[in-house]
Amino acid sequence: MRAAKIRAILRALGLLYPEAGTSLRYRRDRFRFLVSVVLSAQCTDAKVNRVTPVLFRAFPRPTDLAEAPTGSVERILRPLGLYRVKARNIVRIAAAARAGLDWTMEGLTRLPGVGRKTANVVLSETTGRSEGIAVDTHCGRLARRLGLTHEEDPARVEKDLAEILPRAAWGRVTHLFIAHGRAVCRARAPRCPDCRLLDLCPEGQRRRERVA
Ligand code: SF4
Repeated sequence: MRAAKIRAILRALGLLYPEAGTSLRYRRDRFRFLVSVVLSAQCTDAKVNRVTPVLFRAFPRPTDLAEAPTGSVERILRPLGLYRVKARNIVRIAAAARAGLDWTMEGLTRLPGVGRKTANVVLSETTGRSEGIAVDTHCGRLARRLGLTHEEDPARVEKDLAEILPRAAWGRVTHLFIAHGRAVCRARAPRCPDCRLLDLCPEGQRRRERVA
C-alpha cells in the first residue's frame, strides 16, 4: 500500500514537474558545483547564479580561490547574505581541494559549510549516485503532510524516506518535493483544492474536512 502510494506520488509529481532539477550552474564541474551549493544556503539559486560567474572569473582554479584574500571573496559574495562565513568556508574548501577532495558523503561532510544535505545534492547531481536524500524545508514539509514521516529533524526525515523510496528516486524526490512545495504545497497556505496529490494526502484530507 505504501509502495503503491509512493509510486503514485512520484508519478503525479513527475508529470507536473518534468523539468524539476537544480537550477544552479556548473553541474559539469563538481568543484564549482560544490562551491555553488555551499553558497546557496539560505539564499536563492538565482542569486548564486548571478554571483558565481564573477567569482570563478576572478578565481578560476581551486588554487586561485585558496590563495584569494578573504576580503576580495567577501566583496563578491556580499549580495548572498552570510557572505563572511561563506567566503571563509569556500576558501577553506578550495585549500582542501589542492590536496584532492574525498568525494564521498564522509569526505564531503568533513568540509566547512558542508552538511549532509549539501553533500547529498552534490553527490546526486555530479555522480548520478545518491548516497542519501537531501531534505530541505520543502522536502520535510511535503513528507510530513503526505504522511511519509512524522519527524521534524531532517536526518530522521531522510531515514524515513530512504526506507520507503526506491534508491533510484532518491535524487529526484528532493527536486519534485521542492517544486511542489514552491508551487502548491506552500508552508503557510497550501493550495489543497488545486493539488493533484489531494487524494493521497492525509493533511489535504484533514483540511478538506475542516472546511466542509
Ligand atoms: Fe500539500 Fe495540500 Fe497537496 Fe497535501 S493536498 S500535498 S497538504 S497542497
